[in-house]
Amino acid sequence: MTDALVLKDVRKSYGQREAVHGVSFSVKEGEVFGLIGHNGAGKTTMLRMISTILKVTSGTITVYGHDVMREPDAVREIISYLPEDAGAYKDLTGRKYLEFIADFFTSGDKKNELVQKGIELADLGDRIDSKVDTYSKGMMRRLLIARAIMSSPKLAILDEVTSGLDVINAFEIREVIRGIAEQGMTVIMSSHNMFEVDMICDRVAMVDQGNVVEIGTPAELKEKYGKKTLEEVFVTVVKGA
Ligand code: ATP
Repeated sequence: MTDALVLKDVRKSYGQREAVHGVSFSVKEGEVFGLIGHNGAGKTTMLRMISTILKVTSGTITVYGHDVMREPDAVREIISYLPEDAGAYKDLTGRKYLEFIADFFTSGDKKNELVQKGIELADLGDRIDSKVDTYSKGMMRRLLIARAIMSSPKLAILDEVTSGLDVINAFEIREVIRGIAEQGMTVIMSSHNMFEVDMICDRVAMVDQGNVVEIGTPAELKEKYGKKTLEEVFVTVVKGA
C-alpha cells in the first residue's frame, strides 16, 4: 500500500513555545486516519502544517511523496483542507457557492459535472438554492464537506468535521467520509468524539501535549489496554489511569 502521508520528526514552534514535539507517523492510501486529543494538544497545528498553511519548524512532511515545504504547490493540487471554523460566502446560494469553488478547478461541462457532484454530496434537496446565511450549522457543514471533496482530492484533511452537529447530521457526514475512503481517497481528520473515531477511522493517533502517545487501529488499542472503548484507552494513555 502506498503511503499517502508521512510525518518524520515534525516540530512546530510558535515563537519560543514548541507546540508539536517531534511527531512521526504515516497514513496509507485509502485510510481514514484520526487524530484525537485534548483542546490545545496540537491537532490543528499538525493539520495546518500538512495543508501547507503553516511552516514546519523542523522535520519533514510528505504528501504522496511531495514535501510540503519544498513543493507546496504540488501538495495543494492533491489535497483539500476543511478548517474547523470554515465558512462560505453567505450572500451566495449553496449552488452558487459550489459553482464559485468549481471555477477554481475546471470549466464548461466538466465544471457542471463537478457542481452536480457537489450538490449530490451536500444532499441539501431544494435548499441548495437557498442563501447560505439561511442554513443551519449542519447544512453549512454538509455544503463545506461537499466543497472539500467534490474535486476528489487524493488527501482530504478535515478538522473537527462533525463538531456541534446533531446525531443525524453527524451520522450522515460520517457516511460520506467512509464512502469517499471506499473510493480510494485518503482522509486525515481530527475529532474530540471518540465514538466517532472508533466508528469511522481505520487507525488513530492519540495526541497529548504536542506528542503522539499512541497509534493503532481502534480494535488494537482497546485490546492492548484491555478497555471496551477508545475513550477509556485515551484516559488510560493520557492520565495513566
Ligand atoms: P483544539 O482541539 O482545541 O482545536 P488542537 O489540538 O487543535 O486544539 P492546536 O490549535 O494545534 O491544538 O494548538 C496547540 C498549541 O499551540 C496550543 O497550546 C495553542 O495555544 C498553540 N497555538 C496554536 N496556534 C497558535 C498561534 N497562532 N500562536 C501561538 N500559539 C498557538
